[in-house]
Amino acid sequence: MMGARAMETTRELESTSIKYQIGGHAEKMWQRLKGILRCLVKQLEKGDINVVDLKKNIEYAASVLEAVYIDETRKLLDTEDELSDIQSDSVPLEVRDWLASTFTREMGIVKRRPEEKPKFRSIVHAVQAGIFVERMYRRTSSMVGLAYPAEVIVTFKIPVPNLISFAEALEVGYSKYKNPYHNLIHAADVTQTVHYIMIHTGIMHWLTELEILAMIFAAAVHDYEHTGTTNNFHIQTRSDVAILYNDRSVLENHHVSAAYRLMQEEEMNILANLTKDDWRELRSLVIEMVLSTDMSGHFQQIKTMRHTLQQTEGVDKAKAMSLILHAADISHPAKSWELHYRWTMALMEEFFRQGDKEAALGLQFSPLCDRKSTLVAQSQIGFIDFIVEPTFSLLTDSMEKIVMPLIEEASKSESPAFGTPSQNSLGAVSNAEAQRRPSFKSTSDGGTHTENSLATVDLMSFKDNLMKIIQANKERWKELAVEEELVKNVGEQEKDQGRNSTDAQLQEETTRTQNESSQGSDGTTCPPRSIVLQVVSFDTPLSDESNSEKCTNSDPNQKDLTDAQQETQNTDPLNGEPKHCKKTEDKVKSTEQKEALIQN
Ligand code: 5GP
Ligand code: MN
Repeated sequence: MMGARAMETTRELESTSIKYQIGGHAEKMWQRLKGILRCLVKQLEKGDINVVDLKKNIEYAASVLEAVYIDETRKLLDTEDELSDIQSDSVPLEVRDWLASTFTREMGIVKRRPEEKPKFRSIVHAVQAGIFVERMYRRTSSMVGLAYPAEVIVTFKIPVPNLISFAEALEVGYSKYKNPYHNLIHAADVTQTVHYIMIHTGIMHWLTELEILAMIFAAAVHDYEHTGTTNNFHIQTRSDVAILYNDRSVLENHHVSAAYRLMQEEEMNILANLTKDDWRELRSLVIEMVLSTDMSGHFQQIKTMRHTLQQTEGVDKAKAMSLILHAADISHPAKSWELHYRWTMALMEEFFRQGDKEAALGLQFSPLCDRKSTLVAQSQIGFIDFIVEPTFSLLTDSMEKIVMPLIEEASKSESPAFGTPSQNSLGAVSNAEAQRRPSFKSTSDGGTHTENSLATVDLMSFKDNLMKIIQANKERWKELAVEEELVKNVGEQEKDQGRNSTDAQLQEETTRTQNESSQGSDGTTCPPRSIVLQVVSFDTPLSDESNSEKCTNSDPNQKDLTDAQQETQNTDPLNGEPKHCKKTEDKVKSTEQKEALIQN
């Protein structure tokens, strides 16, 4: 027989358990569970409970505990929470659809219907520039009697001819589909950004040389042979790659696999000198990182990493490295407006080309792929708010958690940079031996800070700069969104009144608008303030420069992720041609022009 109190406890446990399963709050549940267990202890102390009741109550407590655990785990795996935020009215339905279809594993979201060799050979140039610098350095150092550090020569285990062949093959692959966005410049951009993040957050001091190589390599290959269409498009059209990879991270699987296939050719095998263990470790890291650039894993990735940061244990290296690559992959909103705008328009044009294909195939438009109705500015606000800001905020938090202890440790020891390359040369020693120690050069020895040492790391300003730029870019999109909305409304009104212009008139009007506002005599795509969002041409070189002026960064003091990006800044991301940036005036187009824009 159950005592009265024991029955009460059981009832409480039962109702708690039921309530819990209905979906009560975990926090409250923990509290109640604690209360119930305390109550049991008291009953035990008083001898007010028999063994059968006790057993039953403990079993209940265990089941509640298990339910809480399951719920916590489910929450960790559930990305619905984040998406429910996106339901707010501030985000147009199409943007929400796009966010859901792109950044979660939700499928079937489609709802509405309506060669030349690249001239700008960025990767090869970078390699050749490196070799040139190396030769110059050797010559100079022998002239002035300086010894070229033997360790550097020994460390440089990648055969240079192989590296050049491999980089050339990569560039060919990146140019295969002539994509406006996913091309060799994007690869170079992401690689440079990963490099920048590693240096400026100080995370390079936490990574081994093998891991640093894995990061750079993963960034360089991460979109190799991108088709300019999304995974969903591959799946819907049942493409060969979708069939090959069973609809799972279709493109990402292809990027890594095809890049590794290249290296099976002896003359392109840049990893020839790695030990077996290092080769395997590098491969495992590269696969994990590139697969994590599949945006459908975004919310899951963010959630897992946030959870990791709350734990006391250290951060998983592969996860941290994946986050760096993921952040670099969506980093253009953290760069100057001119760059960000151009990357945006390049991506939109790529989306629109997919939309054209979808229309031709009789498929429904994927979100943001209908060139006639996509609200670019509004979608960018959604992208920045829900994807970019949280990613960069997590990135800086993660870097802080990892790097701050290294800085403290290094500053305590106050010794000059440790960790010489000879101790951790690639391939020469095992990775375990190659663990880097933090390098911190103190000023007390009279010397200046070693370049890129931990002492030069300023995480606060890294974070502040990023957030400021992202914010400023968002504000620009907000200005444009107002105009975009206006254009949309005018267009809708016109439609309602059945006073649409003919297609021919619209075409003429659009061409005139393009000539007036979007490009200069050098064919540069301009980042305008006025609403020319939907008409930036990616194919037609335009010549009227009457409304253009030389473009400079909006804030020359703004320091962004683009230290070494002058190269890409003066390069049209659309085709890799070097360009001079031009800016349009900030005037709002006339109503007729707006009509033309929305119709086109
Ligand atoms: P990637 O395809 O380059 O590996 O991953 C980047 C993905 O992030 C793009 O395919 C796209 O889905 C998303 N993305 C990157 N930049 C932008 C942007 O400016 N706007 C939008 N809407 N999506 C972006
Ligand atoms: Mn990418």
